[in-house]
Amino acid sequence: MRWTDYRLARERMVREQLVARGIRDRRVLRVMMRIPRHRFLGPDAGVEAYADHSVPIGFRQTMSRPWMVAYLCEQLRLRGHERVLEVGTGSGYQAAVLSMLCREVFTIERVAPLAERARRALVDCICPNVTVRVGDGAEGWPEHAPYDRILLTASSDRLPEGLLQQLADGGVLVGPVRRGDGAQEVVRLVRDGSRVHVERLGPCEFVPLQRGVLDDASARPDAAHGHGD
Ligand code: SAH
Repeated sequence: MRWTDYRLARERMVREQLVARGIRDRRVLRVMMRIPRHRFLGPDAGVEAYADHSVPIGFRQTMSRPWMVAYLCEQLRLRGHERVLEVGTGSGYQAAVLSMLCREVFTIERVAPLAERARRALVDCICPNVTVRVGDGAEGWPEHAPYDRILLTASSDRLPEGLLQQLADGGVLVGPVRRGDGAQEVVRLVRDGSRVHVERLGPCEFVPLQRGVLDDASARPDAAHGHGD
């Protein structure tokens, strides 16, 4: 595969998946045109990395599909000065996109080998303002709080309470929530002093938020996976 093939795949992805389906934030479009998404899938990834679906990354996890990455970034309403917490590093691709839209990204992943792989890809793609940590993101990352933005990329029944406490006043949290009927939707929370405004944005399908940490010894690469967002 030549680099021009990847560039063409990226151009198509931006035009056919993002612009055609309503992504308007020009900074998001520009950044996704630039970042080599295939590099977050390992050395053998082809242009399939730019296709319109999520991609398995092992450990029963997925890299979110391009449209969802763009949509979440847009809904966070980033201007460039923000410090952002991401829960669920996965491949590191979403963190890379975020890093070019804000000042600093702190991202947490519970599966140690995934965190390590993401860390390497982020160095490779020259994203110096991203810090990756292995941990249970449901507890947030108190040392660097408060955050201007928090993004969850794994779903749960209720947004973890601890995370909200780490959101700055005026800050925005975006993430998937599972409803009673099992369907998931993206919600946006905006903190206004002691009050929180909640908005329901739209349907989605993310892997579940799981508690605890999987270290190198206990994490199994696996094969089984589905195609969510
Ligand atoms: N943003 C990612 C999407 C990854 S899928 C990307 O662009 O590739 C969600 C990730 O959340 C998975 O890697 C999963 O292991 C991780 N995860 C699930 N529960 C978690 C938790 N409590 N803390 C941190 N990461 C978690």
